[in-house]
Amino acid sequence: MRKPVIAGNWKMYKTLSESVETALALKPLVANANHCEVIIAPVFTVLKTVADRLEGSNIRLAAQDCATETSEGAHTGEVAAFMLRDVGVKYVIVGHSERRQFYAETDGVVSRKVQAALASGLQVIMCVGESLQQRDQGTAESVVNGQLSGGLSRLTASDLDRIIIAYEPVWAIGTGRTATPEQAQEMHAFIRRVFAEGHSEEAARALRILYGGSVKPDNVGSLMGQPDIDGALVGGASLKAESFAQIVNYSKS
Ligand code: PEP
Repeated sequence: MRKPVIAGNWKMYKTLSESVETALALKPLVANANHCEVIIAPVFTVLKTVADRLEGSNIRLAAQDCATETSEGAHTGEVAAFMLRDVGVKYVIVGHSERRQFYAETDGVVSRKVQAALASGLQVIMCVGESLQQRDQGTAESVVNGQLSGGLSRLTASDLDRIIIAYEPVWAIGTGRTATPEQAQEMHAFIRRVFAEGHSEEAARALRILYGGSVKPDNVGSLMGQPDIDGALVGGASLKAESFAQIVNYSKS
């Protein structure tokens, strides 16, 4: 049985006080959500404070990115995975489409970040997904396949249970346009098959695959009703405690 994961990607939103306020508002609203892992991913600068304020709660912290380098050094502007772990972070989002699109992250870079995160004991939420043009051209599966093999190229069997995949079609992120549950299911089933072929049936059965792209309280139920959708990576609707809590609690049914 795969435990669902509902993760909120706060992107570059919220000051320290706003982050603490949202996190504290969320805490009681999801306190009984034992059916899933509840994760929020605020900006780097607030992680330590939010981690402290959430101590003892069932909300876990993710970072939105990490450095490719595994040890400290002359890497201006970067934050290493072990530094994230040091302040209470448990997960890191890697290869988000905004990083691939706007910061030129290649599969090679994503792979190094995955390795760095695993080496530091973090769990990885690795994002994959095709653009609208690629979907229209019929290359969505080969694009996702390439991102999976490129990003996860150096994984060992013991790493697999710390990998979560988020399928986020680029055309559905922040656009209000959601993949239909059937479109999402089709790609999730494909990702699981790729994993089975590349690793093992057992690893594929255990893999959590999240859907991301305009998930809201009113569409999470139909998405979660699909057999290969194991949770959601939520952007816009995670910024308000109430709507994120509704998504967390709805995913129960
Ligand atoms: C995201 O940022 O990962 C995302 C899915 O955003 P939104 O829910 O706003 O589409």
